Amino acid sequence: MPTFQTVRGMRDLLAEDAEMLNFVISKARETAKLYGYREVITPVIEPYELLSAKSGEEIRSRMFTFKDLGNRTVALRPEFTASIARLATTALKNEPKPLRTLSVGSVYRYDEPQRGRYREFYQSDFEIIGTSNPEADAEIILLTDRLMRAVGLRNYAFKLGHVGVIRGILSQENVDEKAQNAILQRMDKKEFDEAFKLVESEECLKTLRGSLELKSDDVFETVERIQSHVEGYSKAASSAEDLKKILKLVTEGECPVATVEPAFARGLEYYTGMIFEVYIPELDIALGGGGRYDKLIEVFGGEPTPATGVAHGLDRIALAMQMQKTAPSTKPEKRVVVVPVKEELRGEALRIAQKLREAGIPTEFEVMGRKMAKALEDADRRKVDYAIIVGERELKQGAVMVRNLAKREQILVEIAKLAEKVQS
Ligand code: AMP
Repeated sequence: MPTFQTVRGMRDLLAEDAEMLNFVISKARETAKLYGYREVITPVIEPYELLSAKSGEEIRSRMFTFKDLGNRTVALRPEFTASIARLATTALKNEPKPLRTLSVGSVYRYDEPQRGRYREFYQSDFEIIGTSNPEADAEIILLTDRLMRAVGLRNYAFKLGHVGVIRGILSQENVDEKAQNAILQRMDKKEFDEAFKLVESEECLKTLRGSLELKSDDVFETVERIQSHVEGYSKAASSAEDLKKILKLVTEGECPVATVEPAFARGLEYYTGMIFEVYIPELDIALGGGGRYDKLIEVFGGEPTPATGVAHGLDRIALAMQMQKTAPSTKPEKRVVVVPVKEELRGEALRIAQKLREAGIPTEFEVMGRKMAKALEDADRRKVDYAIIVGERELKQGAVMVRNLAKREQILVEIAKLAEKVQS
């Protein structure tokens, strides 16, 4: 048999990477708690139809889709929002609004594997459902800001936009929604010439091209330029006004907004309003992104329900932490290994190990049956703090030897006081 490798784009996360990812997850959960979001757990496999309905061509074409044995066309989720929108039309339909949810887990996309881009990756996804007010959009951005700070990242900054501006211009020029999606999809990839080829009206083209020139170093000035640029387009103008309100709220919340991008678009098709991404200078791929999707729940058969949310790329956040050398701030715990001096004392040694674990002390047991010298050498190599040596003579006094492996010193400790002694 050949040795097996992981499938291309899939990764094993070894202990250190798994610890790092779990640290980021713990910070996402902490953030959810602080902002009043409750975690729900949805399936990895969902109906293809649900996941593909409004995700957009880009994600649709990258989904892991297959038939299950019952001949259902299903797919591995490429994101969480569709699952949460499904819940909002079913089990959570009658929940008081706003409904705030957190989802954490793996998602799947057939992307080209490279640094920070995998086919199986992890997200924390926050959704707030039931209001179209700018406070909700601001909250989503502010909780993302909080997560970035909580994991210790520095110099991160937000990029903001509003798909309602471009959609507003296009819809007033009678460009239908399907064509709007195709145009936004190309704009997301910065293929502006390709995008504009799809626009027929000269007037509309002029307005769209003009919108690319509006960016200023000052974010509020950019929004004002957008506002005057789209004055004749009522929907686009109210979108620009909405963007201004959100920008004002997040700035008041002391969140670092680096740019407002008039021609910013995102791959997902369901966005209807504010969109954003967050970056650090060391990486040119986003650590997270989200936006408003006011039509999705309706498309899934629910009452018209406005909603907004964000997905954080947890692998990329961990990568960013490595690049900025921000270690997880957990305090190291003392580790011990329990070693019986001879075979007959195994039972007694095991009982002592159990007691230490009950007291919350990470305790390994010498399971390899090694002689004392070898067992201590191994414990030292693996950076265990103390070896608890269980010998007959000491046991008679109700005690064990505790050896500090780094200092190569040992003292006699009463079993009754062992846990307390190790912890101090
Ligand atoms: P999206 O909603 O597509 O913008 O995805 C949200 C976040 O997930 C992105 O900002 C990335 O941080 C992360 N992400 C997206 N695709 C991948 C991938 N292939 N590998 C790792 N992280 C990803």
